[in-house]
Amino acid sequence: MLKKLCPKIQADSILDLDPAYLRAIGIKGIIFDLDNTLVEWKRDQLTPEVIALIERFKTEGFKLCILSNALEYRVEAVAQVLGVPYVSRAVKPRKSPFRKALEMMGTTPQTTAIVGDQLFTDILGGNRMKLCTIWTPPISNTEFFSTRIVRCLEQLVLKRFRKKGIIR
Ligand SMILES: [Mg+2]
Repeated sequence: MLKKLCPKIQADSILDLDPAYLRAIGIKGIIFDLDNTLVEWKRDQLTPEVIALIERFKTEGFKLCILSNALEYRVEAVAQVLGVPYVSRAVKPRKSPFRKALEMMGTTPQTTAIVGDQLFTDILGGNRMKLCTIWTPPISNTEFFSTRIVRCLEQLVLKRFRKKGIIR
């Protein structure tokens, strides 16, 4: 179980993601979580830096997709600004929404990465699908009450990973 929660790669911020490195390890498509990964929770405000990052990935030829458990109108608004396809109300960590994202991008699990802030949805789901899982710490600490409960568990897992030296 713990192994399935462990990200393959850890980045301090999505802005640290390096297209050249990801290409070098065989990645062709990237799935992005929405809340607390691309934008602060419930604030659909994309920063110029995040917009530039997505543009850079597009220019470099990566297929992109937003995969979020949030409602369609919110995911769609951000996806439209970024000009990338999306899957909303995704019920991560279930596999079906991940499959849908792969289908949209035309990539395989071996060539796809998922970037997200939650071990129990983004990373667990990505690992179940055998994607390259990239964990970035949440960009704000406001979120759903239910998410906050899961975060307590997440902290325990993170503490253990840190102790083992698996993550920083
Ligand atoms: Mg999130």
